[in-house]
Amino acid sequence: MSRRFEIGDALMIVDVQNDFCPGGALAVPEGDQVVPVINRAIQEALDKGIPIIASRDWHPEHHCSFEGQGGPWPPHCIRHTEGAAFHPELALPEGVHIVSKGQSQDKDEYSALGVTGLGDWLRQREISRLWVGGLAQDVCVHATVMDALKEGFEVCLMREGTRPVQPEKGIETVAEMRSAGAEVV
Ligand SMILES: [Zn+2]
Repeated sequence: MSRRFEIGDALMIVDVQNDFCPGGALAVPEGDQVVPVINRAIQEALDKGIPIIASRDWHPEHHCSFEGQGGPWPPHCIRHTEGAAFHPELALPEGVHIVSKGQSQDKDEYSALGVTGLGDWLRQREISRLWVGGLAQDVCVHATVMDALKEGFEVCLMREGTRPVQPEKGIETVAEMRSAGAEVV
């Protein structure tokens, strides 16, 4: 990491769940390789005393984003299942703020901000900058970063701590995040 965490920062870990890792229902290629990168960031955040947030897809059984319901994805991250659990090696500390999304049957949420109320949670804690990593770079990380920028937060995208579903789309979305104002580190 080229820059260090400072007071006013938060670490935002997006959807590092079993179903998005190799062997999962909606595996992101090399998805599990974000874990050691993010674990180092977690340690640094703990050392600096900055808040850590972890989002998770937390779908009902017949969620509208699933193919059987006409959605684009195979069934994944059904709440309370092993697939929806965080990757077992992800070193989430006690006190991590967990944000669950995609909980309504008829609505999908890629972004960890927006209707989850996370923006208010951050503002209440005077957080102005988010360090973002997780899965997938071209879907939920992208949506989260774009929403964060729209809500006025600064964003550092930890590129090595993310992986895309589709490599070309990853390149495209990283360029889009950068031109929207995210710092890519
Ligand atoms: Zn989902």
